[in-house]
Formats: sequence, structure tokens, C-alpha cells
Amino acid sequence: MLRAAELSSLEGRPAAIGAFNVNFYSQAEGILEGLRRAEAPGILQASRGANKFQGGPENIAEMVLAAVRKSGHSLPVCLHLDHGDEPAARECIDRGFGSVMLDVSKLEYDANIAAVRNVVQLAHPKGISVEAELGHLAGVEEDVSSATTTYADPYLVPNFFDKSGCDSLAIAYGTSHGPDKGAGLEKLAVHIVEKCYRGMAAFGQNESRFLVSHGSSTVPQELVKEINSFGGKMKDARGIPMDRIQAAIGAGIRKINIDTDLRLGITATFRRYLAEHPGVERGSAELAGIWKALDGSPAAVDPRDYLGHIGRALLRRDPRGTALEEPMRLVRERVAAHVERLCREFGSAGLAPRVEGHSFDTMASVYLR
Ligand SMILES: [Zn+2]
Repeated sequence: MLRAAELSSLEGRPAAIGAFNVNFYSQAEGILEGLRRAEAPGILQASRGANKFQGGPENIAEMVLAAVRKSGHSLPVCLHLDHGDEPAARECIDRGFGSVMLDVSKLEYDANIAAVRNVVQLAHPKGISVEAELGHLAGVEEDVSSATTTYADPYLVPNFFDKSGCDSLAIAYGTSHGPDKGAGLEKLAVHIVEKCYRGMAAFGQNESRFLVSHGSSTVPQELVKEINSFGGKMKDARGIPMDRIQAAIGAGIRKINIDTDLRLGITATFRRYLAEHPGVERGSAELAGIWKALDGSPAAVDPRDYLGHIGRALLRRDPRGTALEEPMRLVRERVAAHVERLCREFGSAGLAPRVEGHSFDTMASVYLR
């Protein structure tokens, strides 16, 4: 098993594993391709919204497994539930996920611990790891929007790990969900991560437990420009600068969630493809629907907003031989390039051989205790 401590000791350089959100087949293929190019272990994660979009976690698990098999992916990879509640976590534990996140951070501290402990008791006997959350991130996560950040209290972290039994903890330290992280940037507090680890080390938890960074997309400005030059109207989009993310990895962050960056790349790809192939949508109901949805909502960046009219079974399978083949090939390439680059920046590139041989089929988590 890859432990947090092993990750931090590779050639003396700290590293974190990238966790990439997935909603449809070609996105999964692109993530896996990027991980192979970087020779990195990785996490594919599906939010509650993604599970709903695809009609249940079993469909997501089947889709990701198909992409793993078809590409011959043999590096350690894990399927994780992102931002689940208790029913979603229970469902994913039974449906082939290797790891689940229980986000009940809105509850009072003791109630949060109790809910997480319930899920841990179900998950650990099956070898499934559990991530929890402490503090509130600003921004929009699925359908929940929060204007303010409530930082995690570092003094509570060792106690939280101890009482809940969770494996990892997402802490609010100033990152935020969604495409615009600008408002929170000056509040980014890497010292909170450092303080958390000092406390964890004092309780002997720093080798077996670790901290997670949500809302960590870099929001590449060239993607925003590309989207806008092909009919989009995105504004006020600032991500977390890579040097800040690397500082957080240096302080001990070992899992980094990336959703927005992939959404932007996918949206830029569809907008560019349709603009550069005028009339291509005429021969395909799927492409015509995408064109119409993008034309009607210039601010859209979530692919589910403009792919939603397509039959989900089609989105869950290899698009070769359909009208979606070419744009999805470009999506795959775009996602792969970004994932590869991030793995190099996160320090996880080249780490795959150091992880004991898990295959996706056993659903073993790459960061299980
Ligand atoms: Zn999150």
C-alpha cells in the first residue's frame, strides 16, 4: 500500500496524488491516458451529481472499469466517491468503489465525527478507505453554494482522526470550489496545513493519515480565453496558482482534487470543434444538441449542461464509430495532456511502480491505510 509518508519521501521531494472528477467515458479514458504518460498512480472520482447523471454509482463503476480494461491500464488507480452523504457512501461501498468521501462538514463537530465513524465501520472491513471534511470551503459544489470559507481548526484535526477513524481529511484552508477562486486567494493559508501536520505528528498520525485539498484547479487562463474566443462568456475566473498548490504539497497535502480544469478543457474542445467544423452538427442529433446548448448558454462550463440531452448509455461507452468519435477523441487528448502535466507538477509522475501492485479490478485504493 502506498502510504502518505512514502509519497512524501520520494527523492526527498513531496508529492500528492491527483484525484480527477469523471462524468463520461471519454473523460475517464483521457484521465487514464494522462496517468500512463506520467507513470502516475491516480484517483478517478465521481461526485453524487456524477452518479446521478449516469443513473447510479454502479453505472459509473462499470464505465470506469470498461475504460481501464479497454486501455489496458495496469497502473494503480482507485475509484472514489467525491462529496457523498451517508446514503451515497453506503451505495458506493456496495457498488465497487475503492474509497468514499463523506461530506457532512455542515453538521456540528461531534455529529460530523459520528456520521463519519458509521461509514468507516462499513467501509474498512471491505478494504475501502474513507475521506471526511472539516471546515467549509467557499464556492459552488454541485448544487450547494457557500459564500464564505470557515477554516479547519488545526487543533481539532488529531482528535477528528482519532474519534472518526477516517483515513484522510479534506480541510478548508482557503481553496474554493468552482471556476472562480479569486475571492479566496488572499485567504489561502498554507500555514493551516503545516499546523495540522504538527498536531498529527504529535499524535503519531502523520504516517498513516493525510490531508486532502479540494477546490484546487489552476484554471489555466488560455482555456478561459479559448472558450471565450469560440462563443463562450466566462468571466472572473482565477484558479489557485501552481506555486501555492506546490507549497501546500510541501506542507503535507497528499491528494489534490481537480474538477474545474477538466470541465474547462472539455468545454473549450467542444466549442472549438463546432466552430472549426461549421455545419458538422447537421448530420447528428447529438452534435446538434450540443451546439444548441452551448449557443444558448455562453456561460456554461459544466459538460453535463450541454451533454445532458445525449443518451447516457452512449456517454458511458467508447464513442468510436459514432458522430461523437472525433470531438471525443479531442476531449480525450485534451484531458490526457492536462492530467499528465498536473501529475508532473504534483510530483506523482513516476511513482506508479512504487505502489504495490493493485489493479482496478480489486478496487484497492492507492491510498488505503
Ligand atoms: Zn470538493
